[in-house]
Amino acid sequence: MELNRLTAHELTALLDKGDISPVDICNNIIKEIGQKDKGLNAVVHFDPEKAIERAKALKGRDSSAALWGLPIFIKDNICVKDELTTCGSKILEGFAPPYNATVVDRLCRAGAILMGKTNMDEFAFGSSTETSFYSVTKNPWDRDRIPGGSSGGSAAAVAANEAIFALGSDTGGSIRQPASLCGVVGLKPTYGRVSRYGLIAFASSLDQIGPITKDVEDAAILLKVISGHDNMDPTSVDKSVPDFPSLIKRGIKGLKIGIPKEYFIEGIDSEVRQSMRDAIKKLETLGAICEDMSLPHTEYAVAVYYLVATAEASSNLARFDGVQYGFRADQAASVIEMHKKTRQEGFGSEAKRRIILGTFALSSGYYDAYYLRALKVRTLIKRDFEEAFKKYDVIVTPTSPTPAFKINERTEDPLTMYLSDIFTISANLAGIPGISIPCGFTKSGLPIGLQILGKPFDEETILRTAYSYEQAAK
Ligand code: GLN
Repeated sequence: MELNRLTAHELTALLDKGDISPVDICNNIIKEIGQKDKGLNAVVHFDPEKAIERAKALKGRDSSAALWGLPIFIKDNICVKDELTTCGSKILEGFAPPYNATVVDRLCRAGAILMGKTNMDEFAFGSSTETSFYSVTKNPWDRDRIPGGSSGGSAAAVAANEAIFALGSDTGGSIRQPASLCGVVGLKPTYGRVSRYGLIAFASSLDQIGPITKDVEDAAILLKVISGHDNMDPTSVDKSVPDFPSLIKRGIKGLKIGIPKEYFIEGIDSEVRQSMRDAIKKLETLGAICEDMSLPHTEYAVAVYYLVATAEASSNLARFDGVQYGFRADQAASVIEMHKKTRQEGFGSEAKRRIILGTFALSSGYYDAYYLRALKVRTLIKRDFEEAFKKYDVIVTPTSPTPAFKINERTEDPLTMYLSDIFTISANLAGIPGISIPCGFTKSGLPIGLQILGKPFDEETILRTAYSYEQAAK
């Protein structure tokens, strides 16, 4: 049996019966990666022998360990103790952190087997995985196309059955957009639901870690494991974690769904539009009540995001100066010159662009006009959602305005690239949860994704909506 093609919950059922072992699953994964990954480039740091060792070292089946025996891949910006964690950047070349991210500890406690690291845009700056120091990941559905980004490696690995499931991170769409473009499920939790401790920061007020999986049930399982309060992250919220997997199967009869008109604008691909219409009809046949509505400040989201996110990034990236982490340029005559050369040679061009933009927005004289104003408009965007959720349980939109685009198609035009996230960014600005699920294909066979946004800390309802849709659309 090709175990790598199964979902986590299917594998757990087989493990429970004793039909298969964790080593069997790992062997299938290793074989698939051996056959495929040279062409896809989804995985950047991977040691098959170590994976097998870990699988063998697992103690006997423990039914309370939700992920027992299941191999998992981690995005390259999440710290795994003594393992390469390089953020797809040259500047972190050779860096192996001395501690685990909290999510990694939680995975291990749940019995998961750490397999390796997946490719990503450098420091998660991007929508296509093209800015990675380790070169672009290909979309498994069409290798001339990008897998989305920045968690493109995780999404492509799951879509290509090189991984059962994976973790990604989402600052402006980096879980949901690649999930959409690769035809898998990706969930960005509420800000504060999942600890960011050990996630190498891009924009600290926006970043969240979340699951990328083959189906909605797996997303619920993985989310439950990684969620919960953590003293190591001051923005982690002390709220109980619902038993997501058991709550998603209750149907959506009477659920109120808002369809924001600002998400059906000019420029959205006609096949994406049609597929949204079909999805909305399907949700109605399942008993949901769908209604057109408005999120009036949506048009400012991209501008606000690229001020707030770059400002925070420019500050977060100041620590990479050749002293404590990773790469250090040689032949510098002074410490200052060493910092300069390290940053010049260590960062790619998109990282440099973000640092310059962010430094500009924060600099004296411009702070009030750009950064501060962006924070104010961010509040307006958040209020749009607060108002909307007084009336609606969830909001449904396309995840991405277009299906996967061609490699190099947008690299010369950063603005067009930035517009790839037009539908995902607002959720990060507002701190609300969102999920992307597959909802069809274009005529040429590219996946299309449906985004479901929910109230803060109500991942349960977006998962339930997603599950109902998935079951009906199968
Ligand atoms: N594509 C967006 C950006 O380039 C979002 C990235 C992310 O979520 N990490 O910033």
